[in-house]
Amino acid sequence: TRPVRLSVQLYHYGGGRLLLLSRDVTAVEQAEAMRRDFVANVSHEIRTPLTVLAGFVETLQTLELAADERDSYLTLMAQQSMRMQSLVSDLLMLSRLEGSPAPSVDTWSSVPTLMRQLEQDARALTAVVNLNEQQVHALDFHCAFEGEIAGVATELHSAMGNLVSNAIRYTPPGGHIGVSFRQLPDGQAEFEVVDAGPGIAPEHIPRLTERFYRVDRSRSRETGGTGLGLAIVKHVAQRHGAHLAIESKLGQGARFRITFPATRLRATHQ
Ligand code: ADP
Repeated sequence: TRPVRLSVQLYHYGGGRLLLLSRDVTAVEQAEAMRRDFVANVSHEIRTPLTVLAGFVETLQTLELAADERDSYLTLMAQQSMRMQSLVSDLLMLSRLEGSPAPSVDTWSSVPTLMRQLEQDARALTAVVNLNEQQVHALDFHCAFEGEIAGVATELHSAMGNLVSNAIRYTPPGGHIGVSFRQLPDGQAEFEVVDAGPGIAPEHIPRLTERFYRVDRSRSRETGGTGLGLAIVKHVAQRHGAHLAIESKLGQGARFRITFPATRLRATHQ
């Protein structure tokens, strides 16, 4: 059983006749509440970096600062602007994904090329994330599928890249991150990212793909997260007939897998 909200209208005809119309408006109200939450979340996410930026601008305008102090303010301001840029580009990507029909199966992307690009991006990101650290992440990329995958290359790259960047952002320096693409015995293919990060408690796992859902808000922000990454991954997976699975235990790392159907794959070397 679930609570239901009904909209009831009563019409009175001549001759004592009554017409009662009732409509279940639960879904409409839920959609409206979700939309309100979403707008409130977006406004909050944009307001925070804007407030910080405005504060720094005011400081620069009113105080006579030494050159190195001014530079450190400018660096912080650049970080806040970048945060807003990522947020807006993730929002645009989500709205495009939600508003356009699923892509046709006529664009094929080379899986080894995709994996090479992901590895390059990951190495660049670990270098930035670990700039002040003694150790860098141990990245292990493995492509066991010499073939192509059908879909929109930019979407696939973005979804897979989000999983890899999450692994890097949530795993402490020096931790191991394994990324692989392989074909399963039943013909499906699996893109997998395994990390040695803090892991995720079971009660959070089903909600991770909700927009702006974060287990630890400050950790996500600190590492440049928008809270939209996994929502994007889930949408892209769905549009490609694929499935996102998340497995984790608190303190034991996490494993994210996107499983693609055999119909989306073709081998290039027989
Ligand atoms: P964010 O930008 O906050 O990382 P995501 O949608 O990508 O947003 O992820 C949602 C939340 O899921 C994160 O805030 C974090 O709490 C959790 N999460 C995602 N990936 C990992 C991971 N590899 N290890 C631990 N927690 C993760």
